[in-house]
Amino acid sequence: MSTVLSEDPSQANGSPAIGLQGGRKRIVIVGGGFAGIAAARALKTIDAEIILIDRRNHHIFQPLLYQVATAVLAPSEIATPIRQLEATQQNLSVVLAEVTGISLSARTVEAIHPGLGIRKIGFDYLVVAAGMRPSYFGHDEFALHAPGLKSLNEAETIRSKILSAFELAEATEDGAERARQMTFVLVGAGPTGVELAASIAHMVSITLRNNFRSIDPAQSRIVLVDGGDRILPTFAESLSGKVARRLARLGVEVRTGLKVDKVDEQGVVAGGERIASATVLWTAGVAASPVVRMLNTRTDRAGRALVGPYMEIAEAGDVFVAGDAVSMTQDDRPVPGVAQAAIQQGRFVGRLIANRVKGRQDGRPFRFRSKGSMAVVGKNYAILEAGHLRTSGFATWVIWAVLHVLALPQLQNRFRVQTQWLWSYLTGQRSSRLIAEAPRIIDPIKQKPSP
Ligand SMILES: Cc1cc2nc3c(=O)[nH]c(=O)nc-3n(C[C@H](O)[C@H](O)[C@H](O)COP(=O)(O)OP(=O)(O)OC[C@H]3O[C@@H](n4cnc5c(N)ncnc54)[C@H](O)[C@@H]3O)c2cc1C
Repeated sequence: MSTVLSEDPSQANGSPAIGLQGGRKRIVIVGGGFAGIAAARALKTIDAEIILIDRRNHHIFQPLLYQVATAVLAPSEIATPIRQLEATQQNLSVVLAEVTGISLSARTVEAIHPGLGIRKIGFDYLVVAAGMRPSYFGHDEFALHAPGLKSLNEAETIRSKILSAFELAEATEDGAERARQMTFVLVGAGPTGVELAASIAHMVSITLRNNFRSIDPAQSRIVLVDGGDRILPTFAESLSGKVARRLARLGVEVRTGLKVDKVDEQGVVAGGERIASATVLWTAGVAASPVVRMLNTRTDRAGRALVGPYMEIAEAGDVFVAGDAVSMTQDDRPVPGVAQAAIQQGRFVGRLIANRVKGRQDGRPFRFRSKGSMAVVGKNYAILEAGHLRTSGFATWVIWAVLHVLALPQLQNRFRVQTQWLWSYLTGQRSSRLIAEAPRIIDPIKQKPSP
């Protein structure tokens, strides 16, 4: 059980309590993702105390998470310690803790520190930028067999699952079990599902070639299932069609209009059809972080906060929500849950608070300025949609690669990612083919997993 280190933020009581100090404003930011970091940086020059709380010690560059899941990159190449990222911002302290409660009346955030217990942290302004988590549309039991892709742990779990499947397929002599191990089902054909499916297709046909003796990884079945009538529904229909054809050429079976009814250890049941698979990956729904619920404010069906024009919640004008955890419409269209929206919202909220701390008036309400959307489909092919501009192919893929390297938050990671990509591009090899835990080896005589 956790202990309460400081109930009253103004009484330190010998413990490292975090209370408000007279005069200087305190801004608490929950989440060190794109929105939280952008908010913190926009507050860099003000005379205030900023506390950034995250349950992880690192910021993740999520757009490249699928490359960790498919062994192209190592976790540390897309993750940066938040302390290191914000080391030069003198008015900011980073707290490694999980936020478990928020009181708008007491103006405190309750957070559990690993091994230390609960702290209550007072605030003058609060920014909730806690992102999203995978959602299984009311079937949480699916999570047991179908990991989502939101964290490094999940990416490593997926990587281990994929690589273990080939080891088990190589070891078994049972044809049906071998086929099950070599079948990969991805549920959800948005950008993450498409990128992951194409990357697995490249891995089975190039990277794993000649690595096994009993199986040919190129014979693997990769099935991308979606309940909608087309893949990449947020892109123009013409681009979505091109990507579907590209995936077919890579050997990915695209099955649209198929609703997944069941996920179990044998695979999935979709549209009444069972697809036997040892590796089912969930790239479908997402729901807001439970931190939003702690605000007791209005939300949409995915649990995202419905905020006002200044990203404030209705119950408190100095409590803001930014990034994926927000539901906003602009010109009758939803603001997308993408990194550029999260950065713009975080920066907006940071500047707004900075103005208020300096006693200035609020400026104009938030407005999202889209720079376009991209998705990559294996080697040499990406799509881009920006306003009326729609492009696809090799040149778009080069633009995608350059933009993603430049967007990585640290020079060291930019260098490492570029080197890995170049090596991978030239040799077809992937340098992070590690299985975190040994797979359960099939007993070749009994054809059952050994205990
Ligand atoms: C696999 C994948 C691929 C993507 N690809 C793209 C892409 O190509 N282009 C693009 O623009 N966008 C992409 N996105 C979307 C983009 O990553 C998100 O829109 C963006 O990360 C949202 O930023 P955020 O700050 O709102 O949330 P996040 O970046 O998710 O950060 C939330 C932070 O809050 C912390 N947190 C959550 N709960 C708690 C708690 N209780 N206590 C303390 N801390 C907590 C988390 O640890 C995390 O650090 C992708 C997302 C995923 C998952």
